[in-house]
Amino acid sequence: MSLNSKQNVRCPQCGQMSDVTVWDMITVKDSADLKQDLLRGRINMFQCPSCAHTALMPTPMLYQDDEKRLLISFSPCNDPLVKGQLYDNVCKASKDSGELKQFEGYNLRFVTDYNEILEKILIFDNNLNDKTIEVLKLMILSQDLEKSGDRICRFGKIENDIIEFMIYDEKEKQTYTSNVPKETYDVINKNLRESGVKPYSFGWEIVDTAYATKLLNGVNN
Ligand SMILES: [Zn+2]
Repeated sequence: MSLNSKQNVRCPQCGQMSDVTVWDMITVKDSADLKQDLLRGRINMFQCPSCAHTALMPTPMLYQDDEKRLLISFSPCNDPLVKGQLYDNVCKASKDSGELKQFEGYNLRFVTDYNEILEKILIFDNNLNDKTIEVLKLMILSQDLEKSGDRICRFGKIENDIIEFMIYDEKEKQTYTSNVPKETYDVINKNLRESGVKPYSFGWEIVDTAYATKLLNGVNN
């Protein structure tokens, strides 16, 4: 079941009022078309009919894909401190309601960035796990430690058993690609499993660079 509501929004740029359809929940099995809209960056994106200003709506959204056993809680936020609070709130709400019982064996992810939710969807669509992908990303960025602070690495695609990562350098304003054989992914994936990392969640998880750093330092989930 996918859920939406209409909101009357004032454009922050020109002041024009307009109606926006805001999605609170998208379930893939009922709404494959909504998933495509999400991947195209059109979901919960405000576009002013008058001046064409665009902005992401601050509304939280739940993404559910039963086939991939993936549940993503998306709370748009740029502030790391607020992010922590939002995460705590989502964990507490789920604990209080007991709603996660129906998602046993699922991967539960908490994200705050639009690109991050798109990346997670793509990773699971390609039958990969984001925990292993995050470790690979960290290894790719650590090849150039001096520049790693300016760089964002994202999963791009997998083709002919080659995983392509996109690396954006914010200082240089350049995008690079890095290719990793699927074989390398499989080895790291196997090592993580053997060290106790589960391919499913017991609660909401933030799987990002910090998570991968902890894993590499020997702290398991
Ligand atoms: Zn406007």
